[in-house]
Amino acid sequence: MDDISLKALAKINLGLDVTGKREDGYHEVRMIMQTIHLYDRVEIKKTKSPAIRVETNLYYLPVNEDNLVYRAAKLMKDEFKIKEGVRIVLQKFIPVAAGLAGGSSDAAAVLVGMNRIFQLGLKQDRLMEIGLKLGADVPFCIMRGTALAEGIGEVLSPLPPMPKCPVLIAKPGVSVSTKFVYENLRINEYTKHPDIDKIAEAIKKKNLKDVASGMGNILETVTIPKYPVIDEIKSMMIENGALNAMMSGSGPTVFGLFQGEKDVRRAYDALKQSGLTRNLYTSDIHNNRR
Ligand code: ATP
Repeated sequence: MDDISLKALAKINLGLDVTGKREDGYHEVRMIMQTIHLYDRVEIKKTKSPAIRVETNLYYLPVNEDNLVYRAAKLMKDEFKIKEGVRIVLQKFIPVAAGLAGGSSDAAAVLVGMNRIFQLGLKQDRLMEIGLKLGADVPFCIMRGTALAEGIGEVLSPLPPMPKCPVLIAKPGVSVSTKFVYENLRINEYTKHPDIDKIAEAIKKKNLKDVASGMGNILETVTIPKYPVIDEIKSMMIENGALNAMMSGSGPTVFGLFQGEKDVRRAYDALKQSGLTRNLYTSDIHNNRR
């Protein structure tokens, strides 16, 4: 096999809490991660020339070592002394810098894909270990499904599949850097923390309503005062039938969970008309692990 085409799935956080800061500056988190059916397409082709070449449909994305797919390919080449090169064609559909782990998922796809086309025979655990060098979300993007993520996001405990439901993804036309959000996060005794264990329990009991009512993201305390549009989108989803709506990761993307297709369509139409969003997609829960 000389080439492979893979889906790189986006993730949402059903819950995100920050519990402390390590001496090296990284924040300790507790998050419920969930893959959804919104994806980039990553095609990898073996080449005789040793170079790594990246092409993408988004003109503003780098195609050198600043792109995570390039870094992933380089890491695999170095680590396993691969002499051949690769040509990677990356078709982006996941919004960039959105809190949906698009870049991490693309990198995960490159690790999985190169393991296959170069017949390296690496087990998933090993790929996840390698992935961590590229970013804290990469191991989860390799594993997929539903998981509790602790540490800096890399300590993963798989959870049973989250109940299926329609998901609405809405990104406003603002950009938020993850670095900015964490640097401006202030936690004190008055800060309301989401109950991550409650969400995990609701998932185990397959109770969608309790998952929705438990949803919470501590990073909204930074982003919502700065970008009130995030709150407007949340409210509009809830007014139009969402069981609940929340910002994913460090934002600014908001997602809503819905009970049925009719509700999600209503919220989609309302948001489309409002002009509050730049990207708007209906999606659903993707539970298959790799
Ligand atoms: P997270 O949820 O993990 O914080 P994110 O959705 O906020 O991720 P990404 O879309 O992964 O953010 O990208 C963040 C930055 O990384 C962008 O500013 C972009 O320039 C850079 N980047 C590098 N490689 C990629 C890639 N393959 N896809 C998207 N962005 C990339």
